[in-house]
Amino acid sequence: MLSQEIFKKRRQKLFDAMIDNSVSIVISASEHERTNDVVSAYRQDGNFYYLTGIKESHCAAVLFKRKDQCVYYFFSRVRDPLQCQWFGDLIGQDGAISNYGADSAFPLDLLDEKMLTLLSNCRRVYYSFGRRPEFDARFNAWIVTLRKKVRAAINAPHEITNLDKIVHEMRLIKDADELALIQKAIDIDGQAQIRACKTCKPGMYEYELEAEIRYEFVKNGAMHVSFDPIIAGGANACTLHYGANNQKLNDGDLVLVDIGCEYEYYASDLTRTFPVNGKFSPEQKAIYELVLEAQLAAIEKIGPKYAVGDAHKVSVEVITRGLCKLGILQGDLATLIKEDAYKPFYMHHLGHWMGLDAHDVGEYYIDGKGRPLRPGMIQTAEPGIYINPNTPGVDKKWWGIGVRIEDDVLVTQDGYKVLSAAVPKTVDEIEHIKAAK
Ligand code: MG
Ligand code: MG
Repeated sequence: MLSQEIFKKRRQKLFDAMIDNSVSIVISASEHERTNDVVSAYRQDGNFYYLTGIKESHCAAVLFKRKDQCVYYFFSRVRDPLQCQWFGDLIGQDGAISNYGADSAFPLDLLDEKMLTLLSNCRRVYYSFGRRPEFDARFNAWIVTLRKKVRAAINAPHEITNLDKIVHEMRLIKDADELALIQKAIDIDGQAQIRACKTCKPGMYEYELEAEIRYEFVKNGAMHVSFDPIIAGGANACTLHYGANNQKLNDGDLVLVDIGCEYEYYASDLTRTFPVNGKFSPEQKAIYELVLEAQLAAIEKIGPKYAVGDAHKVSVEVITRGLCKLGILQGDLATLIKEDAYKPFYMHHLGHWMGLDAHDVGEYYIDGKGRPLRPGMIQTAEPGIYINPNTPGVDKKWWGIGVRIEDDVLVTQDGYKVLSAAVPKTVDEIEHIKAAK
């Protein structure tokens, strides 16, 4: 678990970024009803958790800065014994101060009243508008109310700035404590991948592999997935966000396993593709080794010397050249790349940021250019080739093959570190695991 000192430092960094006479407002995630009267497992909003360390719903954190005085206000439910009896202990106002570093704490019912005071004559508000429509309406009402007080010497805030921009930039660079939690999530994910690979045999259903994976996650303290598992046998792998996981795994098919867990709120995201019966066919092996070649070449372009987009570009080159060699594409390499000929087979980007969210926050492009990579950033490297059944112009022997290989890569001072390097991915390693069971 991260210490309160870490959350305090993050809030201080946000205070430092705020102008004088300004207020930041951060809201906890909403609860979501899954079925009548039953809510989904609660997951705190990433920004809110990042700044407060608090996993409780129905909270607001307000950072107030005036004449270099920085005050952290916290609003949450009162610690009502009846509520606690049903739903477990609440932080309460005393807890927010003594355990979570708030300078001042109030019941959530007082939020409207207190915000009108805190926003009076405030120059700028930092707020993530557009993310919680129900709260946006409340925020608007405060501004409208304050505008009506102009003749009473009270001015409404002059500027509203997107808080996400500041916090997302902070979240993009991971510190050592965060890296330890991410590594733990990746290690658990890797064990689940190996378990799935060992367990898999023809005739099983995709959901049986999902059960093995979820067992491994929960047994190791990763209580939640970072996204719903994709267990895609055969041609199901050609559906990028396949999630039914209810089909039989057939002898002779591959299965694509794209899974992520959450450990102490930090995500992993790994994909392995392996043969259901333990042995790649020549066609499966050819596609698999091409994806692996593309991934290894792409990873070489991750580091402080490179920018977002460089690694993807290399993966496109390797895949297009390889598809030509296999006879799946025909023509001049440069022209095929220019005309996006690879896109029917490789239609997604190489990867995404990873951290508190599996698809973590942060801009990829600045002024239309891929942003330079910096130490502490983590991105996935996940090229794939997907050949839909009945693809015109493609020999039938390739139909229904879908392969993706995904690792989580940290940008370091002098290059990169593959955080999931311990999870086997060569053809030999995978066939060895299957043969050794
Ligand atoms: Mg993935
Ligand atoms: Mg991914």
